[in-house]
Amino acid sequence: MIAVTKAFLPPFEEYTQILKRAWDNVWLTNNGELLQELEAKLAAYLGVKHVLYCGNGTVVLQLALKALNITGDVITTPFSYVATTNALLWEKCNPIFVDINPIDFCIDADKIEASITPGTQAILATHVYGNPCKIEKIEAIAKQYNLKVIYDAAHAFGASYNGKQLLSYGDVSTCSFHATKIFHTVEGGCLVTNDDELAAKLKIIRSFGHVGDNYYAAGINGKNSEFHAAMGLSNLPYLPGIIQNRKNTSEQYDALLAGLNLQRPLALAGSHYNYAYYPVVFDKETILLQVMAALLANGISPRRYFYPSLNTLPYLTTQTVCAVSEDIATRVLCLPLSNSLAEDDVERICAIIRSIMQ
Ligand SMILES: *Cc1c(COP(=O)(O)O)cnc(C)c1O
Repeated sequence: MIAVTKAFLPPFEEYTQILKRAWDNVWLTNNGELLQELEAKLAAYLGVKHVLYCGNGTVVLQLALKALNITGDVITTPFSYVATTNALLWEKCNPIFVDINPIDFCIDADKIEASITPGTQAILATHVYGNPCKIEKIEAIAKQYNLKVIYDAAHAFGASYNGKQLLSYGDVSTCSFHATKIFHTVEGGCLVTNDDELAAKLKIIRSFGHVGDNYYAAGINGKNSEFHAAMGLSNLPYLPGIIQNRKNTSEQYDALLAGLNLQRPLALAGSHYNYAYYPVVFDKETILLQVMAALLANGISPRRYFYPSLNTLPYLTTQTVCAVSEDIATRVLCLPLSNSLAEDDVERICAIIRSIMQ
């Protein structure tokens, strides 16, 4: 079985060697030495002041909304993983979906202003597949209307824009380090900000809202453990090699799929990709379904990602139309991509796709 992704694992001894430090100290969680070391290394890698390592890529969205006191309308994208919308709903915010642009599939920054209401407090946008949103335009709108900007950068670890890590943009960026992501710690996520005050607040609410006997806010448990931090410390040195291997595989796909009627998202100039995903957009959903069935019959499992368009979730109270997102969501498929996908497997996948499409 070839899945859409395969988690990278470091040599077992490298993990256990790092883990031994936690074992020897019998310090398993609660702001341990390994977690602090991981946070420092991530902050250095990202070129930012504060990285807070947390439990997952969903709780970090909730923490960001909570720390910024966002309770009202939030402009957001319909083309993301469901956690982006769920975090808003969970925090009792009102998602206002703005359609995506058909080039890079990120929120269409030119359509944001028309959706701003007096109740709008923030923009929550996703750097789709690791490609940047129109950052300058979003920043300008946020400044003009006094909105906070949160980027769901779950796909963007290792990607950069205009010479800076993509995760360094926005009032706060969040990331997921789930096992399916390009850099992972089994489960995990982080908050990234250059704002000292916000970082201090996030730190407190990540850990129940108190420091010792001083109680400040109704916090939550958003912490992560030394075992997970150890996986992060083990994996981080491999990231450049992982990105390079995924780049090679992506270029092999490019070559073997050339000439077929497939659209690929096109990133903004100035962006440097991390090769987190290999999405292809078919002409029609019927072709996607045929290709998917043929791949599955051969033990290859691609993923409809993202599908469905989030503005159509059945539990939303207000239904809106986002024509571009709904259209792309029915036609996009992420092909298998990982650090260790074999060249002949890519050849086999592409031959199956060609056999349906030609
Ligand atoms: C994976 C993902 C999340 C959720 O991250 P978890 O660590 O699984 O909670 C949120 N947003 C996007 C865009 C994601 O891809």
